[in-house]
Amino acid sequence: METKGFAVFKERGPFKPYSFTRREPGPNDVVIQIKYCGICHSDLHSISGEWGDRTFPLVPGHEIAGLVLATGSKVRRVKVGEPVGVGCFVDSCRTCKECSAGLQQYCSKGAVYTYGYSLKDGSITQGGYSDKIVVDENYVLRVPKEIPLSEAAPLMCAGITTYSPLRTWGAGPGRKVGVIGLGGLGHMAVKFASSMGAQVTVISSSESKRADALKFGAARYVVSSDDAAMSALAGTLDLIICTSPGMYSLDKYVGLLALDGTLVIVGLPKGKLELQPNSLIRKRKSVAGSLIGGVKETQEMLDYCASKAIRPQVEVVPLEKVNDAYARLIANEARYRLVLQIP
Ligand code: NAP
Ligand code: ZN
Ligand code: ZN
Repeated sequence: METKGFAVFKERGPFKPYSFTRREPGPNDVVIQIKYCGICHSDLHSISGEWGDRTFPLVPGHEIAGLVLATGSKVRRVKVGEPVGVGCFVDSCRTCKECSAGLQQYCSKGAVYTYGYSLKDGSITQGGYSDKIVVDENYVLRVPKEIPLSEAAPLMCAGITTYSPLRTWGAGPGRKVGVIGLGGLGHMAVKFASSMGAQVTVISSSESKRADALKFGAARYVVSSDDAAMSALAGTLDLIICTSPGMYSLDKYVGLLALDGTLVIVGLPKGKLELQPNSLIRKRKSVAGSLIGGVKETQEMLDYCASKAIRPQVEVVPLEKVNDAYARLIANEARYRLVLQIP
């Protein structure tokens, strides 16, 4: 199937127009006309070579929202014309313990990622900075009618990546939740945690996002370089979601946890983080990690957003301006998710 998009042809780009062929749809496949695709910081890590070598040309994009253009003869979950989404993976083994539990992202054979993943036939998957995608119906999400497609797109990664750990570790009333980094993921973490009843504190690298953080539902806002404010916060948080894509002092952030508190790492900086064992031991603390979410939980999160009127704050940018959008992402100017509009 002929597809038009934008790709990088070498590490760090720039993006240029790229036409390529996707596999022809089979009986279980859904053909999606992509309308919007969010720009995740993972896309930037990927094209920058921070997560290892990539095959070029590479079309990133795993926050996909669009309309069903066609369905295979066996497709039952969606119909032509319906709004749908696709997240970070498009297939998995479907039989391992994790897949059977609906945790396809942790598939023991490895999930098939939406872009940059080498398939057995030698081809590689290409993502959502393009006009069409072909996906097995079991990996397609239904977008509730209340959510505009431009706002549904970031939920496919930023939304589920923050919703899932908040559900897993608990963010209800009485819980004190910290969110490190107020970007695409971070602002969703604030909205979700406050909607679940937690008291939310944002830990940001600058003063500039304070008003927005409070608007999103945070009760407190602390600048990480403000030693006095950080000392006052020490030992108080039950759960921290750390979204930082850059390096940081893990000991410093673990120091913010209360007894039995957990710091969940979702940001993926290149490099190794150091931790003093004593940082954990003295108050029975944990450091954990979390990867996106499975199909079932992603659908649950979309329905939750519809029922609670939770939406990402997006800046829509035409696909041909993707290089300008990256410059804004790199400069930490996105407020709070840049979303490409696909012509
Ligand atoms: P983003 O929109 O760029 O936001 C990141 C935020 O972190 C920034 O707004 C900034 O907030 C703060 N920050 C701290 N150090 C930074 C640095 N060196 N460069 C830029 N920002 C920095 O990124 P995102 O899309 O939310 O993604 C965040 C991280 O999560 C990335 O590493 C991404 O790869 C990862 N990720 C992981 C998963 C998963 O499944 N675990 C899924 C998606 C993304 P302040 O201005 O408030 O300091
Ligand atoms: Zn992502
Ligand atoms: Zn599996």
